[in-house]
Amino acid sequence: MSATPPSPPSALSSASSSSLSEAELYAESLHFLEEHERALGMDARSILEQRFGLRLPPDVPNDKALLAGVLVELMRVRQVRSKLGEVNTLEDVVRLIEGSSRVLVLCGAGMSTAVGIPDFRSKGGIYERIRQRYPFLDDPQLLFDIHQFRLDPRPFFELALELLPATDDALRPSVSHCFVAELERRGKLLRCYTQNIDGLERRAGVQRVVFCHGNFDTVTCVRCGWHGALSDAVRECIRAGQVPCCERCRRLQADDEDADVEEVEPVLKPDIVFFGESLSDAFFGQIHDDLEATDLLLVLGTSLQVAPVAKIPTSIRPGVPQILINRELVARARVEFDVELLGDCDVVVAELARRLQWEMASMTPASAYTFHPPHRYLFPGAIPPANEEEEEELPVIDATLPASTSLPQPEHQ
Ligand SMILES: [Zn+2]
Repeated sequence: MSATPPSPPSALSSASSSSLSEAELYAESLHFLEEHERALGMDARSILEQRFGLRLPPDVPNDKALLAGVLVELMRVRQVRSKLGEVNTLEDVVRLIEGSSRVLVLCGAGMSTAVGIPDFRSKGGIYERIRQRYPFLDDPQLLFDIHQFRLDPRPFFELALELLPATDDALRPSVSHCFVAELERRGKLLRCYTQNIDGLERRAGVQRVVFCHGNFDTVTCVRCGWHGALSDAVRECIRAGQVPCCERCRRLQADDEDADVEEVEPVLKPDIVFFGESLSDAFFGQIHDDLEATDLLLVLGTSLQVAPVAKIPTSIRPGVPQILINRELVARARVEFDVELLGDCDVVVAELARRLQWEMASMTPASAYTFHPPHRYLFPGAIPPANEEEEEELPVIDATLPASTSLPQPEHQ
């Protein structure tokens, strides 16, 4: 007769997210390892390897306290966020927004494509063009690699031309940006975490925004660390296709005849987070509190492919509704969203604003969409999931407004 193995910690034994705090999760993991050791005579290392299929490097010590921490991380990675049964429809989304005062918005490229900012990953997007222009860069993501930048910043600045508008006013925020601003104006926005570097959230008036990947507002000298606002001169320099240099370093170099010419070029790098760089302090300083505080998550125009932003949905307390507004489903996020509103962001949020009876400027007219029960809607611009076409034809809901009931315009116009 063999001993019954203890149950794994709760987050691993069920598909749903655990409601345990980090400390409780750690205590439970440690307890699990101790119980397992007692019942089956297995050490912590063997448990992780045999029961969870983890391959640990040989130099990781066989230490229960340490490996309990590894187990907690493993749980986080393997966690799947399960859909809430009671949240399914557009009516539910509207009701949730109306009742919420702490909406967390995660946004990405899909929010800015409507105003002409190129997307990175889609067909014809930035990465595809980089591959064509710089075949020597094996991986187009290398353009945003800090080591590659130090080797040769020119490809990055050539690309920056596309991302950096001629003036601050040259780009106007999209309807989706304005929707986030409206959430804030109505006291409903806890925080907007954007992965975009175009700065359009601020242009739309959003104050409670964290630029997870930085933006072009400021620059830092890669040699001396001088940090400051992007000046008109630097903007001009980038727009002229040149690499901007640090004036401070230049002056020092001119004064010092013994200056080491071998030293790294004093390039001014826009404060965009490159691969290989850590996310901003603003992100880490805020995210833990926000994960606890939020009462509704809106994922807006992102496929959640880049960590750690991609991990936010699985890190939020269970029971907090999560809504996806994106052209396509999010495959890798390990999240079952409660309502999936697939389509162009601007079109979807315009319909939400209409139902919320919000007055917003420059609204896209509401348009027809289809409801795919229990919880998916396809709006114009949607990329339907692969098996969607086989489904029976669904009734089209025409939400176009009759001419007489057009939305009121904002007062200042
Ligand atoms: Zn410098």
